[in-house]
Amino acid sequence: LAGQITERKGTLYICAGLRCIWDLLYDESSRKKVDAAERKLDGTIGDDEFRWACWASECPTFGYDWCPTYIREQFVRNGGRFDPNITLLMDLGLYSRADIESDQERIGDVVARRRLENAAHIAYHRAVDAERGCLDAHMMQHLNGQREWPGAWLVREIFGNPFKETRFASEWRTPTVLALAAATYADRAYDRLPIVADALEEAGCDDIDLLLHCRGDGPHVHGCWVIDLILDKV
Ligand SMILES: [Zn+2]
Repeated sequence: LAGQITERKGTLYICAGLRCIWDLLYDESSRKKVDAAERKLDGTIGDDEFRWACWASECPTFGYDWCPTYIREQFVRNGGRFDPNITLLMDLGLYSRADIESDQERIGDVVARRRLENAAHIAYHRAVDAERGCLDAHMMQHLNGQREWPGAWLVREIFGNPFKETRFASEWRTPTVLALAAATYADRAYDRLPIVADALEEAGCDDIDLLLHCRGDGPHVHGCWVIDLILDKV
């Protein structure tokens, strides 16, 4: 896919992958960044709000949530309260109050910490190297380091089969097909894909792979190649 990945498709791929590992995004700002990145593509977020979401999502990449001296300092400055992130990480059993009181440089199980930190990096970083038409090289390192990252199914779900180009006939874009696809996209209701397949077939579509994709078990995500193809979104 090198040279073929658009800003939009690459971003949707990253966002969909992050939604698959949503529980690892322990900091609310990482989740907000995913949401903001998707909305940016559809033009439903203002520049200021988007910029703020990007800035905020860098915070969990700094590693302060694992640094006891910082946590203690913050506790005092907060008037004797832990930041919600810290409480959450303690509730998850990643570290204890005793760890926070300790003189370690970093606390928390190393493997677990790296998984969470890495996920936060994926949410924060630039997704696509638009000039080269591929995922950003630094992003690729983080993806390779996230063992929970979805496999080939997500690549095919977003980009389709890279070894077979689908010829989409314009006469298949009937008003019914277009309306169903647009609603599926807007509502993120990808469980309606079998209905889209019926409409496509009625319009004369005989592409078996395309129809099977709609009628298969999925899972489907926002950015599904069939809906994008119908709506001519690249
Ligand atoms: Zn799909």
